[in-house]
Amino acid sequence: MLYLGCHLSSTGGNVKMVETARAIGANTFAFFTRNPRGSRAKPEDPADAAAAAEMLLEGGFGKLVAHGAYTMNLCTADSEARAFAAEVLADDLRRMAALPENFYNFHPGSHVGQGVEAGIGYIAEALKQAMAPGYPVTVLLETMAGKGSEVGGNFQELKAILDAVGRPDLGVCLDTCHVYDAGYDIVGNLDGVLAEFDRIIGLDRLKALHLNDSKNPFASHKDRHECIGKGSLGLDTFRAIVNHPLLKEKPMILETPNELPGYRQEIAVLRSLEA
Ligand code: FE
Ligand code: FE
Ligand code: ZN
Repeated sequence: MLYLGCHLSSTGGNVKMVETARAIGANTFAFFTRNPRGSRAKPEDPADAAAAAEMLLEGGFGKLVAHGAYTMNLCTADSEARAFAAEVLADDLRRMAALPENFYNFHPGSHVGQGVEAGIGYIAEALKQAMAPGYPVTVLLETMAGKGSEVGGNFQELKAILDAVGRPDLGVCLDTCHVYDAGYDIVGNLDGVLAEFDRIIGLDRLKALHLNDSKNPFASHKDRHECIGKGSLGLDTFRAIVNHPLLKEKPMILETPNELPGYRQEIAVLRSLEA
């Protein structure tokens, strides 16, 4: 079973998102837990979350992949801003418990000149503080393009965070645009990249994918998403991904430059690629 979806606006609440997902042929989706470029979160609505959870179950949805705000930098240099980011993470995780058994993905952060090691330490510390014992949501680190001082632009850095936190309920979300931009050739050698992921991180930690084509060539460290089949990854790469035995059961989220009609179309195209 393919679980395909896209980013949806959370403005109308959880039930609304499930309805929108259904209308565009999605059976998973992503949403920002708060304003993606700010820090404001919506008031909580437990009845809406409970109704949505019921609909997800009845509709045979795969796990959802919530996304933390882009502005949340757990390893920024300013200690006050860093503490605020850690609070935002803790608040997001607490809120996500209303939709248990799903995923919460975030960008590890940018160390802004403090060095990768310091960055990893801050990120791990924030996760340890935020993830209560028995926490019902699996937290995912996103593979990054390695733009600027981003942490998580290679598998070793993600593995170092996983090790420093030391919990089984922390995993990885693989973004196809980001890994290709970071220098992992999923176009020419998808199996080789997955083997490397397995050797360094372990494929049991790979929980979800972001499906994006890329506006830029291999290893450009730019992070500019393109519509499926229209960039340097190409349709055949996505055909290989949706049919790959190690990937095809995982939730796949589109973050391509589209509105809902475009997402509906890309979901249909991806489903048609399934052998
Ligand atoms: Fe992301
Ligand atoms: Fe992504
Ligand atoms: Zn990106």
